[in-house]
Amino acid sequence: MADQSCGLEEAMRLDALERQQITDTPRDEAFDRVVRLACAALSVPMGAISFIESERQWIKAEQGLGVHETPRDISFCTHALTGDDVMVVEDASRDPRFASNPFVMSRDGIRFYAGAPLTTKEGYKLGTLCVVDRIPRKLHKRERDLLKDMAAIVVSEMELRRRAGTDALTGLYTRRFVDELGMRELIRARRDGESLTAAFIDADKFKSINETYGHPIGDAVLRAIGPACQRALRATDILGRYGGEELVLLLPRTSLRQAMPVLERVRQDVEAMAIPELKGRSVTVSIGAAELDENDLTITDLLGRANRALFHAKQSGRNRVELVVAA
Ligand code: GH3
Ligand code: MG
Ligand code: MG
Repeated sequence: MADQSCGLEEAMRLDALERQQITDTPRDEAFDRVVRLACAALSVPMGAISFIESERQWIKAEQGLGVHETPRDISFCTHALTGDDVMVVEDASRDPRFASNPFVMSRDGIRFYAGAPLTTKEGYKLGTLCVVDRIPRKLHKRERDLLKDMAAIVVSEMELRRRAGTDALTGLYTRRFVDELGMRELIRARRDGESLTAAFIDADKFKSINETYGHPIGDAVLRAIGPACQRALRATDILGRYGGEELVLLLPRTSLRQAMPVLERVRQDVEAMAIPELKGRSVTVSIGAAELDENDLTITDLLGRANRALFHAKQSGRNRVELVVAA
């Protein structure tokens, strides 16, 4: 498994999985349905859609398995990510990779496994659609093709959802999606005792950019701000368009003190953008940030404080970062 769990390729795969924002999300009928179909079509009692994180296999949908996550090192699916085709194990008890696996050794253990990689259009294999049986068996060509087709349905379902949460002009997450992700991050931060910082990034005097250069160039500037911000950010950071010329940023596992240099980088990177149509004029942003505290019940509470910090940044002259330090 060493080739799977280290190296640049694996780091990029994990980034691609993180961008999907799918792990630790609730049950979802669309994914359950595909697992039911796969089990019925291949006449097996068990199946799953699973995603492979660095240390963990997380199961989005399953039938008959009764587990929602396992350590990666005992996962069958992690092996299915090495090839492009469906991985078939006809009898796990006779396969040196799996014979001593706890799922195989238990009473009524796994014998048959077939897993089709969930491959994104960029070529990242994020996990598998798999079927499992307690008795050894073979997989026919027709069944292999069916499993691959259903895996492709899972990937396009994920892609559709990602696009539904993405703003058409900037390609950043929508406000609604950021609110959803924000609640998830808040719960996770509470559970793990981690910090969480939120920031608003608002373009300065944007009305005047529209008035001077026209709305279409204003649009082009808005499209450029996201990627400029992203240069200083990590794959796990969440950047969305909250309103017209206002972005929102969530920094998981980051305190306000740790966020400060990142936000300052964001401010500088935006100011340094070269947009030929602006003929030398630079675009600036004001940034207001706040950190999660124990009184925040919802993400809106935290964003409210970040918004107050933004107001101060505007009042104190724009093109600057202001923080609301917890009372
Ligand atoms: P401030 O520094 O106080 O933020 O000034 P501002 O002019 O940026 O703020 P204000 O909120 O008064 O104006 C925001 C402007 O952003 C007005 C609106 O036309 C423009 N805007 C909002 N959405 C879009 C968009 O999608 N495209 C373009 N081109 N402009 C937009
Ligand atoms: Mg503005
Ligand atoms: Mg604004």
